[in-house]
Amino acid sequence: MPNTDVARFQANQRRMMAVLVVLVLVMAVIVGSALWMVVRQAETLATPALHSELWRSHQANAQIRRTLSAALAYKQGNISADDLTVQIQVLRSITRTFEKQHVFRFLPVRRPSAEQALNQVIQLSKDWDERAAWGDPIGADIIADEISQQLPGLLEPMIDVLVSANISLSNELDDDRQKLHSSFLYLGWSLLGLLIGSALLVARLIVSYLQVRQLSLRLGDLNQNLEARVEERTQELSEEQALLNYILEASPSDVALLNAKDSQVHFVNERLLKRSGIKQQQDFSINALFAHPGEGERFHEALEARRQINDWEALLAGEQPYWGVVSGRVLDQIGRTSYLIWSYDISVRKQMEQELLTLANTDSLTGINNRHAFMQLAEDSLKLNHRYRRQCAALMIDIDHFKQINDVHGHQVGDLALQAAAQTLVNGLREVDVLGRLGGEEFAILLPETDFTQARQVAERLRKNIENMQVLLPSQNTLSMTVSIGLAMNTSQESLDHLLGRADSALYQAKTNGRNRLETAGEAAFRQKL
Ligand code: GH3
Ligand code: MG
Ligand code: MG
Repeated sequence: MPNTDVARFQANQRRMMAVLVVLVLVMAVIVGSALWMVVRQAETLATPALHSELWRSHQANAQIRRTLSAALAYKQGNISADDLTVQIQVLRSITRTFEKQHVFRFLPVRRPSAEQALNQVIQLSKDWDERAAWGDPIGADIIADEISQQLPGLLEPMIDVLVSANISLSNELDDDRQKLHSSFLYLGWSLLGLLIGSALLVARLIVSYLQVRQLSLRLGDLNQNLEARVEERTQELSEEQALLNYILEASPSDVALLNAKDSQVHFVNERLLKRSGIKQQQDFSINALFAHPGEGERFHEALEARRQINDWEALLAGEQPYWGVVSGRVLDQIGRTSYLIWSYDISVRKQMEQELLTLANTDSLTGINNRHAFMQLAEDSLKLNHRYRRQCAALMIDIDHFKQINDVHGHQVGDLALQAAAQTLVNGLREVDVLGRLGGEEFAILLPETDFTQARQVAERLRKNIENMQVLLPSQNTLSMTVSIGLAMNTSQESLDHLLGRADSALYQAKTNGRNRLETAGEAAFRQKL
């Protein structure tokens, strides 16, 4: 059942229950009031003092007769004045009750003679009662006379009073019975209403109970299904997690997974922990991955900006720092962002590259720069000299009559001679000077930040060093040799090729002028410039 239907169903249930409860409460109030009315009427009927008009009328009649008899007896001297007074007081006590209650209230037709007779008896008894006093025989005489004159005429009308009271009482009782009957009817209908309301409420409660039971059974089934599905999914997830961990552990890369927000570590494989020398997974961080301080932060910033980084080469931290390639991805999972970082060791490749570079740049025979490396290093150095407007010199050096050395001593001795010459040149130069073997027995040197005088001094010193060099041969004989040197000065924006070309021309000049000497390109012109 969709949520909106459930809400509507519950609202209807509540409304219906409220209506039924209100109905039952109203019926209960009505029943209560009906019951109250019945009880009151029953109480009224049960009160013995009520409906006593007939009885009192009868008493009044009887007392009138007794009072009359007493008056006659007093007059004959048979009773005392006080006895008469007693009878008068009794009569008065009876007639007093008629002053408050209307004996003729329920008469269907008025009976004026009866009313008049009763009023007269009340008035007379009141009057006699007021006048009668204890021990007053004179007063008693007068009253006894009045009684004997007045009361006989009232005996007959008082019978009428008795009849009227009887009729009135009968009517009143009929009326009361009618009212009681109506109240019982009212109570009965109310009870019936209450009964129907209560039955409806109970029926409604039973229906609601059955519906709720059915719903809770269905809910129970749904819950069971849900629990089974959650368990199944949890099982799947933990299996997937185990598989993922297994794959990451078995990966040839070093792998880490971090929370992007707070850098909390989710996973680091054993291989990375071992390599980086970190004891606990939680101690791992991007900064801890890199050997150089600050590189971790640069990697982090780049990863945030680009969301993926491929092949970031860096020196990585470890017990022994090593070269590695680091890659990273920003992963947006449900509810959180993570960094997946993996790296692998490229130190062997780096070493091989370095070796290849060295091999590619080094002359295998002499160990100094080959032509390619010399040209690159000299080019860089020349650019710096141009930028700072410094003087700079180039030397071209060629061993004299080298062919003869080969021819006389053999090619191997020629190689030894070449190595010895190269070493002597290295020994005579500064760290910043660039030396290279251009090919055969020909060398080139770039002397940065060197003026003409200094360049000449260097060139001369080198020439002399070679001249004085004694190469010890395997035969224990020694070999000596000389070199010719061409020098060219560079102060303008001249290219390296052009500068070397001019130095080569000077070398050619030195060869022509007898060898084992130094010649300077355009020396006259250069001197003029100076
Ligand atoms: P010059 O005084 O005019 O320079 O005469 P040269 O004999 O030195 O010049 P040439 O160009 O005629 O001879 C150079 C020789 O150097 C030829 C070649 O066999 C030899 N040579 C070149 N490279 C090597 C090498 O690597 N080892 C040996 N042993 N000899 C080499
Ligand atoms: Mg030569
Ligand atoms: Mg040569």
